[in-house]
Amino acid sequence: MLTLTAARGASAWAGGLQLAALAFITVAGYLLVCLVWPYAACRRCKGDGKRRSTSRRTWRTCRRCAGTGQRRRVGTVLLLAARSKGKHR
Ligand SMILES: [Zn+2]
Repeated sequence: MLTLTAARGASAWAGGLQLAALAFITVAGYLLVCLVWPYAACRRCKGDGKRRSTSRRTWRTCRRCAGTGQRRRVGTVLLLAARSKGKHR
């Protein structure tokens, strides 16, 4: 009886470890992709850098991305934060 509960506990622990490993691989992979492609299109202007008026003829600079049309991805922000932390050390 005792061995059975122990075995159950071990398999649950191994399952948790597997899940953690899978999560780690997913996050590591995502960060790696963010290293190669750090930017995504700005959500407000869709990478255009311009905010068009309703007539579509006139436009102004997109405030969200300051006209660059690029948006830092979540992973990129994390990587930059980690990098700046390392510099302070
Ligand atoms: Zn924009």
